[in-house]
Amino acid sequence: MQFIRESLLKLITETSTNLPPDVRQAMGKALAQETPKSQSSLALNVIAANIDMAQDDEAPICQDTGMPTFLIKTPVGFNQLTLSQEIRQAVAEATRRGKLRPNSVDSLTGKNSGDNLGPGTPIIHFEQWEQDDVEVRLILKGGGCENMNIQYSVPCTLDHLGRADRNWEGVRKCILHAVWQAQGQGCSPGALGVCIGGDRTSSYENAKLQLLRPLDDTNPDPQLARLEKEIMQEANQLGIGTMGFGGKASLIGCKVTARNRLPASFFVSVAYDCWAFRRLGVLLDAGSGAIKQWLYRDPDRPVERLAKESGFPLSGREIILEPPLSEEKVRSLKVGDVVLINGLIYTGRDEAHAYLLKNPSPVDLQGAVLYHCGPVALKQGDRWKINAAGPTTSSREEPYEADVIGKFGIRAVMGKGGMGKKTLEGLQKHGAVYLNAIGGAAQYYARAITQVEGVSLLELGVPEAMWHLRVKDLMALVTMDAHGNSLHANVEETTGAMLETVGASSPSHSG
Ligand code: SF4
Repeated sequence: MQFIRESLLKLITETSTNLPPDVRQAMGKALAQETPKSQSSLALNVIAANIDMAQDDEAPICQDTGMPTFLIKTPVGFNQLTLSQEIRQAVAEATRRGKLRPNSVDSLTGKNSGDNLGPGTPIIHFEQWEQDDVEVRLILKGGGCENMNIQYSVPCTLDHLGRADRNWEGVRKCILHAVWQAQGQGCSPGALGVCIGGDRTSSYENAKLQLLRPLDDTNPDPQLARLEKEIMQEANQLGIGTMGFGGKASLIGCKVTARNRLPASFFVSVAYDCWAFRRLGVLLDAGSGAIKQWLYRDPDRPVERLAKESGFPLSGREIILEPPLSEEKVRSLKVGDVVLINGLIYTGRDEAHAYLLKNPSPVDLQGAVLYHCGPVALKQGDRWKINAAGPTTSSREEPYEADVIGKFGIRAVMGKGGMGKKTLEGLQKHGAVYLNAIGGAAQYYARAITQVEGVSLLELGVPEAMWHLRVKDLMALVTMDAHGNSLHANVEETTGAMLETVGASSPSHSG
């Protein structure tokens, strides 16, 4: 097994930095179908540029490199214990090299292990097969989309769709509802793995396993194939769009399986994955551990670049923000404005918000831009380099944000997916805005960082620390303003109305 470590490191690196062809193809379709110059199209262009940048620099596509989940098939008699050890060491090494973010947090103490190792991390599933080689598949699925997974126990009552019964129609309603409830928070356009039936645990597990299927395959079960096709058509009529900005492309894939269930239970489980659909695999020689073949990749097909032009085309109508921001400047902004930030900003996410509520801030936040971001940061000598820096899901800060804004005089919070009523009221009251950065565009945003000027609260771990970042032309959209307007609330309302229409239409599918 002299090549095993090298092979596993290559698999982890490629999975984190280079999207597979089927996902690129699906994102290419989404780009082609979106209305040019719309907010969703703008976001898709940034995403396309980000995908290319990640591949060019062999850097993480998204800063949230997720829970490393390995699915392995070994020949009978193969030593699985040795392979587990090698996987753990390869994961730690990939973390050290900045290909994975330290993502393993002790659930009791809140301490980050720093190397992605710990009880339950990484996840490794083994099974045996009657072949001579070892197959290793890897999924990196981040927290934003993982939090959008949902399990329905039917019969149940769903927003905008009414009752979902224990039949095909009920299943269809659950899947459509799963897309709608995610809005842009799982970094749409996303893909679904669905399991009909099973028990609570196996249902979720099998839903996730559907994400191993290539996005362009056809379900061998004709009924499920029809259902997948219908969901793709119907979900893309909802109008959620990229990042929930409203638009035509909401879903890039839907893969469904069914498992037997107990007579008393009927679960429909949905695993939601984001556009940064990082999943690859290799076939290894069981003796040497060398890679014999890549899965999901056609060796004869070169990787196609996604972005039509390099970078993000500026219109000249962008508004320049240079923190510290005045109340007057911020109150002049409105939903739909595109801004470019120049100057010093600070990151802060879950732990930092909880800290700030109870303590003084380690930095002056008057007029500041607070970025919901947990970057991949590498220490080089006595300096830090940010390797990936896209936004995290802002709704997690909803319980704190209005109070934090009021307490410190923050003028802009920036993240992804939007925030709720309490924050909207806080923005109005204190004179602040919510800026939506493009979720997952970690390389695009890392390139906007010209210098790491410092870091506070590093004891909370790299993702949770407050990073002091000097940025240039960092682009975001105003999606919640100081006048009570929220693009997120509007899109949720219009897509809810559309969900009612689509849900009521009679599907051609019948079980
Ligand atoms: S693209 Fe969005 S949802 Fe996906 S891992 Fe990155 S931040 Fe999370």
